[in-house]
Amino acid sequence: MSAGTRLVMLGRQGAGKGTQCVRISRHYVVPHISTGDMLRTAVKAGTEVGLRAKGYMDRGELLPDEVMVAVVDEQINSDLTRRGFVLDGFPRTVPQAEALAGIVEAVGGLDVVIDLDVPVPVVLERLASRRVCVDCGANYSTDKPPKEPWVCDECGGEVVQRADDTPEAIQRRLDLYERETAPLTSWYAERGLLEVVDGLGSEDEVAGRIIAVIDARTAAS
Ligand code: AMP
Repeated sequence: MSAGTRLVMLGRQGAGKGTQCVRISRHYVVPHISTGDMLRTAVKAGTEVGLRAKGYMDRGELLPDEVMVAVVDEQINSDLTRRGFVLDGFPRTVPQAEALAGIVEAVGGLDVVIDLDVPVPVVLERLASRRVCVDCGANYSTDKPPKEPWVCDECGGEVVQRADDTPEAIQRRLDLYERETAPLTSWYAERGLLEVVDGLGSEDEVAGRIIAVIDARTAAS
């Protein structure tokens, strides 16, 4: 079995983070921690965090940093993450990155931060056609639907368009990404952790590039 990895995946909405994080987490046998998936599960279950999150998510706004830091802190400190983790959707702001640095200090810090780079016109096209399973979060698109119309191949759940994949919410999330999350790339570059990976191409090609970058980092450390 390969060594684990402690990885953060950055990239615009629609860059393919979710799809790639699932593959990377299987490859390195580490949990995929997606804050968006965790919040969607909390909304569905009607938990306190979920009730608080719903309005922000439907509007395409970010939840307050302290709420998100508490959610991630609890998850990362669970036993499951001893081999490492793939963080998807967190951090999204510099204060979140600062908090994460404190959370992971005890386990040796992050190995690498990947910026999955896909240009805006391409992500706009992908988001408009994106469909997801309400139960397991598997990703599909109108060009690549499940085998049976809108029934998830993985778990049999219903496959729908996300409530925040409307044109207005998409625009708001992309603007927010440029304003709040894009500055994280220089923040991580200054700390020697950033690797930019081209997110265009087939899923296999992109996964191959990401794994090569992680393995090179691990070999060098
Ligand atoms: P995602 O599936 O990663 O696009 O996340 C969906 C929504 O969940 C976002 O538009 C935010 O409303 C919320 N969210 C997820 N992760 C975070 C985070 N790290 N900070 C603040 N809000 C978040």
